[in-house]
Amino acid sequence: MTTLNALIAVCLCYVALLFVVAFVAERSAAQGRVAWLRYPMVYTLSLSIYCTAWTFYGAVGNAARSGLEYLTIYLGPSLVMVGWWWILRKLVRIGRSQRITSIADLISSRFGKSNLLAICVTILAVVGTTPYIALQLQSVTLSFEVFAEAANPGQSLTHNATALYLAMGLALFTVVFGTRNLDANERHHGVVMAIAVEAVVKLLALMAVGVFVVWGVGGGVADTLQRIDASGLGEWQVSGGRWAGLMFLSAAAFLCLPRMFQVLVVENDDENHLRTASWAFPMYMMLMSLFVLPIAVVGLELMPEGANPDTFVLTVPLSQGADVLAVLSFLGGFSSATSMVIVAAIALSTMVSNHIVMPIWLRVAPGEGASVSGDVRHVVMLARRMSIAGILFLGYLYYSLSGGGTALSTIGLVSFTGVAQVLPVMLGGIFWRGATRVGALAGLCTGFAIWLYTSFLPSFGPGHFMSGDIVAFGPLGLGWLRPHALFGIEGMDPLLHALLWSISLNTLVFIAVSIASFPSPLERLQGAQFVNVFQHSVGARGWSAGVAQSEDLMIMAQRILGAREAQALFTREAAGQGRGGQLPDPSPDFLQTLERELAGSVGAATAHAMIGQIVGGAAVSVEDLMAVADETAQMMEYSSRLEAQSEELSQTAGKLREANEKLTRLSVQKDAFLSQISHELRTPMTSIRAFSEILRDSDGLPPEDQTKYASIIHDEAIRLTRLLDDLLDLSVLENGQVNLNLRRGSLRDVLERAVAAAVADDSQGVIELRRDTVAEDITLYTDLDRLSQVFINLISNARKYCDAVDAVLEIRVQSGNDTVILDFIDNGTGIAPEAQDVIFEKFSRVSDQKAGGAGLGLAICRQIVTRLGGKIDYLPGQQGAAFRVVLPMAID
Ligand code: ADP
Repeated sequence: MTTLNALIAVCLCYVALLFVVAFVAERSAAQGRVAWLRYPMVYTLSLSIYCTAWTFYGAVGNAARSGLEYLTIYLGPSLVMVGWWWILRKLVRIGRSQRITSIADLISSRFGKSNLLAICVTILAVVGTTPYIALQLQSVTLSFEVFAEAANPGQSLTHNATALYLAMGLALFTVVFGTRNLDANERHHGVVMAIAVEAVVKLLALMAVGVFVVWGVGGGVADTLQRIDASGLGEWQVSGGRWAGLMFLSAAAFLCLPRMFQVLVVENDDENHLRTASWAFPMYMMLMSLFVLPIAVVGLELMPEGANPDTFVLTVPLSQGADVLAVLSFLGGFSSATSMVIVAAIALSTMVSNHIVMPIWLRVAPGEGASVSGDVRHVVMLARRMSIAGILFLGYLYYSLSGGGTALSTIGLVSFTGVAQVLPVMLGGIFWRGATRVGALAGLCTGFAIWLYTSFLPSFGPGHFMSGDIVAFGPLGLGWLRPHALFGIEGMDPLLHALLWSISLNTLVFIAVSIASFPSPLERLQGAQFVNVFQHSVGARGWSAGVAQSEDLMIMAQRILGAREAQALFTREAAGQGRGGQLPDPSPDFLQTLERELAGSVGAATAHAMIGQIVGGAAVSVEDLMAVADETAQMMEYSSRLEAQSEELSQTAGKLREANEKLTRLSVQKDAFLSQISHELRTPMTSIRAFSEILRDSDGLPPEDQTKYASIIHDEAIRLTRLLDDLLDLSVLENGQVNLNLRRGSLRDVLERAVAAAVADDSQGVIELRRDTVAEDITLYTDLDRLSQVFINLISNARKYCDAVDAVLEIRVQSGNDTVILDFIDNGTGIAPEAQDVIFEKFSRVSDQKAGGAGLGLAICRQIVTRLGGKIDYLPGQQGAAFRVVLPMAID
């Protein structure tokens, strides 16, 4: 008889073996030797976590109670696998291209990264899975008890302690292998390998018990079939509704259970593994179900009345003295329970830490750590580990609260129904672009609430969370709200009732609210990405394409870093890996280094997307695209800044060129000016010298000649003086050294004085002046003397150059708000258009120089008027020469 201690020893050895398997797998994965971890069979076997202790023990119990109904639990998933092309392939592709880490992540990504949705799904998953974990603890405890009973009849174990130790052991294993690293892809090679081994163990165990029962106890196939017929369990008493419901339920749970999503989608290395799994997994299920009925029938015959059929797998061999087989069978059940709990804990902890703990932590501790990636990793790890411990503790709590009494399969189905609430949203999300976040939230909450009310809370039994009165008569006596007869539909199987109402209302609300609401832009984008995932992404290629892949990386790196830098980097890395040549293994470390290098050139998001394309075959996710767009925007901004700078530079260059040209022009002008001045000075000097020589040398010159010559000398000297005065004046004005003597005075007075001064010089012609003294009655605040100088110049010019017979100069005055306009218009020939601007230049003279001005007058006028804040221009289109002076009334 196997003692309990021996059993515990075997158990510990088995766990140690699992540790070794997981450890070796992890090490191989870390060293990049992953080929053997990636057999499609490993993937297929890992899917077997669907068959938990519930299936291992409960299926026999189920068959003993309800005949063939247990088959539905196998048929649902088999149908999903056979139709993998339709849903699973899409899920796996989306999972890869969007780097999905859990089912909550999938739903939240699809609906515009809504964390609220993720939280909802996470809570639903935790609530739905907790009973299931409790179920596993219960089944292992139960199996221990069976051995204890057999070894020592009458003495029973302390259940709670066993379950607690078990939960702690499982938490330890999960923490050690489930949170070793924080890969972006969240794959756990060690765990997957361990559960593949467990899958084999449980299949072998169940088949061994089956073979033993059929040939060892039942007396061969024919005998056993006879027994089955006699028992009536094999009869086809099908209630169509319940069968369809159960099949749908198990198919839905297969897709939506967090642990199934973890192994199906997240741990999937290669889409093509589905192809193998699509036939191998149904086969596995078939083998698992093959001996269920014979064991149940033989168990019912052999075991005493009232024995728990859930433990037939153990009790039948034990009763026949087949201890080794019983231990094997125990290991099978143990494997089923532990593998489920481990993967469920990993999946749930990822969800809890990503969607609940981390957002809270990031909000509570802003700034601190968020920028330091190492810190965040540390926190994420801690969050994962705490979540794992928390989830297992919840399972234990549920187990001890519920008392572990309910039949295994009932707990399982309640749990399935809860998790299946995600199905409408998930399918809607991947097939219907019109699905919206609000719709998803509304649908999920509706389904969840109905499930809680009709299935979950009543499952604890009356009096626990829901009083017996409510179950019997409805809340507040409202009969149509009875949890098992909602809306007055009575007589239905409670499970089917809950399933029907929760899923149908869930779907209805989801669709109706989606149609009535509008998706955000990100939701639209994600929706398109999800629904059309096959158009947007390439198939999986895996991570170890070897040399060909390194070459691809090299080509890309050369394009971005430049040939020499890329080659240097690759050679260095290859040497670092202990390889010759230029192509290092595309190990995670190397890829990280490369990504960092590339990020320096093209930005982090772009680099990540590029490497992802080559290495993972991953399509660029919307987030990637957005990040790339961000970077591009930054670069564009940078380049437009550069452009603006270069524009500025070219403007400066243009200005410099202009200045240079001006300088050249000025230098030419200066030369012209100097020669002009010397010419202007020489003319009077020459005549002064000539006439003074005559006066000095010729004696006896008649007195009238003497007087004539002397007056010529005098006139020339005056001209010379005036010229020098003008030059001096101009130079002072041009250098801006003038001090304006600002005073208030009447424009009329200024004009009066100017006219008097201009007319006083009677050497010039006569001119009639026409003025409007009324309009001239304006008070100005300006330099009155300088202004008068301008007027004198203009009046004397008219006197000098107006060639009309009856010369007339009209002075018109117009005054605006704060400016005065004076027009000096004579009736002469005027000035030719091409000369109109030139006359304001120094030394410019247009008409024949009968009056002999040096051509400085108008230049001085322009300088003065400009100083006074106004302007002077030639006024074309008049009868004769016309000048317009515009002046401010007052200089401020
Ligand atoms: P200047 O010292 O020779 O008078 P200005 O600068 O005053 O020099 O005038 C420049 C030239 O403009 C004069 O030489 C003359 O040819 C022309 N000019 C000025 N005013 C008149 C006018 N009212 N009628 C015709 N020509 C004029």
